[in-house]
Formats: sequence, structure tokens, C-alpha cells
Amino acid sequence: MSAPLLDIRDLSIEAHKDGERLGIVERVSFSVATGEILGLVGESGSGKTVTCRALMRLLPTRSLRISGGKIEFAGRNLVTASEAEMRHIRGARIGMIFQNPASHLDPVMRIGRQIGESLVLHLQMSPREAKAQTIELLRQVGIPDPQRRADDFPHQFSGGMRQRAMIALALACSPELLIADEPTTALDVTVQAQILRLLVELRDKRGLSIILITHDLGVVAQTCDSVAVMYAGRICEKGPKRDVLAEPLHPYTSRLIACQPSASAEAGLLPSIPGQPPSPSAWPSGCRFHPRCERAIGLCRSSAPELVTVRSNHVAACHVTAPARLADEAA
Ligand code: SF4
Repeated sequence: MSAPLLDIRDLSIEAHKDGERLGIVERVSFSVATGEILGLVGESGSGKTVTCRALMRLLPTRSLRISGGKIEFAGRNLVTASEAEMRHIRGARIGMIFQNPASHLDPVMRIGRQIGESLVLHLQMSPREAKAQTIELLRQVGIPDPQRRADDFPHQFSGGMRQRAMIALALACSPELLIADEPTTALDVTVQAQILRLLVELRDKRGLSIILITHDLGVVAQTCDSVAVMYAGRICEKGPKRDVLAEPLHPYTSRLIACQPSASAEAGLLPSIPGQPPSPSAWPSGCRFHPRCERAIGLCRSSAPELVTVRSNHVAACHVTAPARLADEAA
């Protein structure tokens, strides 16, 4: 089997505040193969965005730092890569799109010029070649009449069109990996479905690998091949999407699935997970989910469960459900 494009092993990230060190992300491991779409799922504050910023080496260095582990991308450990090397990798080999494209597109520069500048800078294209390639990219992401719309400013685009333009910008240098951080959260349902379809098409046509950061398991169901669930800075479950969604092992994943809106759910009756996600300054002892978990036993308060492989590639960290499922599988 060929090596994954991205292999993150035991990544830990610390925050520094008032002389104190707080563990924000702890021993996170996951990998992404060429052409795979991985959903990185969890509530706000679970550490998913900070993990992906670390992989781009975009952590604010005064407050956050990688304290352990490695990030192998195409055989290179990005934790030890020089800043000059990272400048080349960001944009050219790893692209990123965000929830709010308006704040990442320059409001006073025409859309086409923003994409063209990236092509000139990273791929040394002539202005003429860059213009032709820009129009082709806008066409590929579904912007109608791309020749004319390339001269528009971001405010002349709708929210969905701005997200498409952001994707075109991220794809300009043909990256191998795209990190999409909640790319559809601000969009209405129809446009959301169009953007998710576009990401899957780009994977199919370009063999692009994608990490899709989301709190929405509906988005994972529509788009991803595999899923990693984060809670309070740790991975609590990961595996092939079909297995995780159909037969979740971790009580937190089960609760996230139960909280998804369904066609039959009546307004106001949507279940929610009781309690709040904890903050790094007050991580609970043992299993960090124990204060909110209806299956908790005494051991959960004192001992952090390790990830256990229950079925091929399907792993979970739970003192109760993982051993029970292992026993079922063995019976
Ligand atoms: Fe719940 Fe205990 Fe499993 Fe944590 S280890 S998810 S508290 S049962």
C-alpha cells in the first residue's frame, strides 16, 4: 500500500498564557490518502481548526506552539521545515478555503487579478498566461461568463460565488491537499449542496485530497470518505465514514449523530448534548467527555481511554463501548 499523502502522528499543541502552558491538542493522529476526503468533526473549541493551522504552520507563534509529534506531507516533516519551504508549500502544495471568503479576498482587487497574481508569483506565468488560466479556473469552479466576471470585485459576487472564487484561488497552483474550514456554514442549503458537490467533483477530476473541517455530520455524510471526531483536543473516534455514521463506537459520536436535524425532526424538538464543551484551562480528568456522558463509569473519571482498533481502520477511545464492541465482534 502506498504511503498516505499526509500523515499526522501524535501531534500536540500548547498555548502559553501568563507563564502557564496549556495543552490545546493532545497526541492527535490521522492520515489522508491521495484523492481521499477526510471529515474532521467536532464542536467549537475541540481543536480541529488549530490542528489544521498547525499543519500549515500558521499558528500565532507567541501564543501557540507545536509541542510534539510530526506532520509528514509527501514524505517531508512540516514540523521541522524552514519558513522559506513552508512559504512554497502553502498555496502551491496545500491550499486553504475558509467559512467567510469575504474576509480572505481583497475587497479592492478584482477577482481575476487576485487569482492571476498567485499564478505569476508561484508558477512564474506571464501575465497573459495567468489571465487565460484564471478564466479557465473560474470556469472549472462554475462561475458563469468567467471572462467578464473575472473583472468583478468581490462585493459584486453572491456568497456562493465568492466561495467558488475562493476555491479557484486555492486551486490556482494545483495543490495536492485542500483544507476546507467550514466552507459552507455561511451559505444557504441549496448553495451549500452545490459547493460540496464541487469539492467532490474536484477530488474526482484532479485526485485532490481534502480535509473538510465541519461540525455538521450531514456534510460528512454527503461528501467524505472517512471521518475523525475530535473532542476537547483529542481524537475520540475515526474510521471509514460509513462505519462511523452507521455504527458509531464513541458515545460522543452517537450524540452528535442524534443531534443532526432530520427531515422528520419538528422545529424545537432537536436533541442537544447536555452541558458545554470544556475549555483547555479546565479539561476534565480521565476521559474529557465524562461530565457529559450518560455511559460513564468510575474509571472514566480517573483514566483517559486509549484509541482501540475495533474493526479494520475503525478506532475509538472509550472504556465502555470499545471493549463491548470488541467482545461482540469476537463472539
Ligand atoms: Fe463515556 Fe467513559 Fe466512554 Fe468517556 S470513556 S465516552 S466517559 S463511557
